[in-house]
Amino acid sequence: MNWTKSQRLYEEACKWMPGGVNSPVRSGKSVGFTPFFVREAKGCRLVDEDGNVYIDYVGSWGPLIMGHAHPRVVDAVRRAAEKGTSYGIPTELEIRMAAGVVEMVPSMEMVRMVSSGTEATMSAIRLARGYTGRRKILKFNGCYHGHGDCLLVQSGSGLATLGIPGSPGVPEEIVHHTVSLPYNDLHRVEQVMQQVGEEVAAIILEPVAANMGVVLPAEGFLPGLRKLCDDFGSLLIFDEVITGFRLARGGAQELFGVLPDLTCLGKIIGGGLPVGAYGGRAEIMERMAPVGDVYQAGTLSGNPLAMSAGLATLEILNQQGVYEELEEKAAYLEKGLKAAADEWLTPMTLNRIGSLGCGFFTPGPVVDFASAQKADTQAYALFFREMLKEGVYLAPSQFESFFVSLAHEKDDLDATIEAASKALKVVREKAS
Ligand SMILES: *Cc1c(COP(=O)(O)O)cnc(C)c1O
Repeated sequence: MNWTKSQRLYEEACKWMPGGVNSPVRSGKSVGFTPFFVREAKGCRLVDEDGNVYIDYVGSWGPLIMGHAHPRVVDAVRRAAEKGTSYGIPTELEIRMAAGVVEMVPSMEMVRMVSSGTEATMSAIRLARGYTGRRKILKFNGCYHGHGDCLLVQSGSGLATLGIPGSPGVPEEIVHHTVSLPYNDLHRVEQVMQQVGEEVAAIILEPVAANMGVVLPAEGFLPGLRKLCDDFGSLLIFDEVITGFRLARGGAQELFGVLPDLTCLGKIIGGGLPVGAYGGRAEIMERMAPVGDVYQAGTLSGNPLAMSAGLATLEILNQQGVYEELEEKAAYLEKGLKAAADEWLTPMTLNRIGSLGCGFFTPGPVVDFASAQKADTQAYALFFREMLKEGVYLAPSQFESFFVSLAHEKDDLDATIEAASKALKVVREKAS
């Protein structure tokens, strides 16, 4: 593969943007990768500026559950754009979106649209604090909730990739009220709640963690947190920015049968446009201005292009058999990858749930951030680069997930498995 043009664009980009990128996760620093520049994409395939084609398992980091440039989404956006791109005045589209989301997500009675997942979690935290009159927030190591100040502690995603525990620029006074605990360690949460439960406004988590690679909730973890929140009058917040509409129509809460007080959404809900949302019981949501006194606003919130793309996406996800199809495809890929890892005697722990997965280069098990960090990131980096050469684009970090979409066909999955077998052979040869 030739990356001449991407290389030139990258050098130019670095003159004008820090690291040449608008989000650090794209930089590929940890896997020795210089980002390629995309020209266009369709279905599960990306084409870069040099004309190289890749099977894409990043899917814009989660939103593209139907693949790139789905005709119905493109059509919905085009038609909306012709009628104006933003009004700052209510539209019927927003009602359809809100009603649709409430219908799909079991715990939600009311919703507020925002423009990113970060905004959704920041606003949900403010609401939880306003509603309970308490300050403390309990989160989990390796979970990522966007880059809001008070949640930027022991975070997953780019911070995990770059090995950054927190960030300069976040005053200590602000994170002073944030407690971060090991994921899946209910006993520790119980101990902390015994001590400070009365001060805890909310426990926030990814119900399936997908920003430290993929880590599933242990049996009893989610119900245990639900009970602790009930016992201490704290709110339970599920950050379903990744899991929402991906693991089931109603997200992880439907799948595990545990209902949070507030839910944060993002990614898929915008069908590839910038959208986030948060919501929950009406009694809590009506604490938001203009009904209540907790303030949060947005010039482009409920934007008609974004609502149209999101609605087109949710409509397709409401069709029969969609989640079965995703499960079938992802299970097929998992089986193939496991066989390839076995063939080349590579210790790999493959954590997967539905169309969300991660192959950790460690014998495992991977159940929290500490065990995820045991993964051999050098081996992953080599694997990533070999896969890229074979025309498969994985996340440029061991601590991110792969996303299977409806656009991945059996031939694509077979090609991926074949590429993985070649790549793992190289990893094996380097190791010995
Ligand atoms: C991506 C993500 C966010 C942040 O969403 P942005 O749209 O990038 O601000 C928050 N929480 C989770 C679980 C995410 O995966």
